[in-house]
Amino acid sequence: MPEATKSIWEQNAAPRHRIQWCPGCGDYAVLNALKAALVALELTPSEVLLVGGIGCSGQIRNYLNGNSFYGTHGGALAYALGAKMANPELTVFALAGDGDTLAIGIENFVHICRRDPDITLVIMDNGVYGLTKGQDSPSAGLGRPVTASVEEHPPFIDPVKVALTCGATFIAQSFSGDPKHATEMYVEAVRHKGFAMVNDFSPCVTYNKFNTYDWFREHCEKVPESHDPSSEEAASELIRDFEHRGKLPLGIIYRNPRQKMPAKRLPIWPKELERIDLEPMLKGLR
Ligand code: SF4
Ligand code: MG
Repeated sequence: MPEATKSIWEQNAAPRHRIQWCPGCGDYAVLNALKAALVALELTPSEVLLVGGIGCSGQIRNYLNGNSFYGTHGGALAYALGAKMANPELTVFALAGDGDTLAIGIENFVHICRRDPDITLVIMDNGVYGLTKGQDSPSAGLGRPVTASVEEHPPFIDPVKVALTCGATFIAQSFSGDPKHATEMYVEAVRHKGFAMVNDFSPCVTYNKFNTYDWFREHCEKVPESHDPSSEEAASELIRDFEHRGKLPLGIIYRNPRQKMPAKRLPIWPKELERIDLEPMLKGLR
């Protein structure tokens, strides 16, 4: 890969977009791991689309030099699917938070798992809505056993379990305290032909004072080498075993080895677009 292309990914899109995350936010590590993965995959910015969710995490698309799209809350996966259908040659990422993916966007998440389009979802999971000052998200309560049913504090949603139940074909987990491992997970996720989810534990240092870097270091454990990720049964057993021991698995939990048929391209690209004058629309966006 030409050095010039490599340096494009290594640079931030700053100063056009000043990074606004709090110092120490886990999303910095996701950004760096993602850049390293894109370089390792030898992808150029024109080959990649980054669809951001809403919230602190969704800003990540502004800090990378590539094509990006920003839509409504909960919609990142739907936009990513649309883009992939229109142009299957694109490597498409949906980059969203836990609130975005598991609350307002959960219907998209469930059905994307079923449909298995060739896109990669990275969830920056911190258990809170950071941008709106730290309200509980659906993944709040990680590590705190529910001893009694309390309406205000329902049990948390585990994206790994949801993904496995709904038919996702690649499920992995990473931690912002280990960006090298996160890079490996993103590379494997992109290489997987089908929908790939990586749930990254990305601490919110400002609003989540329970699930801190130290807490994750104490509770995360790599998936053992003996684990067979191609077996759904083994994946379920692994999840149960880790849960029983109060640990969180890092690594590839499930990777369905089936063959995937290439997706059909929507009949709108590029022949039809050649006839449309995009200039007036693009002018309005500049
Ligand atoms: Fe990160 Fe939390 Fe700050 Fe948002 S509020 S930038 S999630 S540390
Ligand atoms: Mg969040």
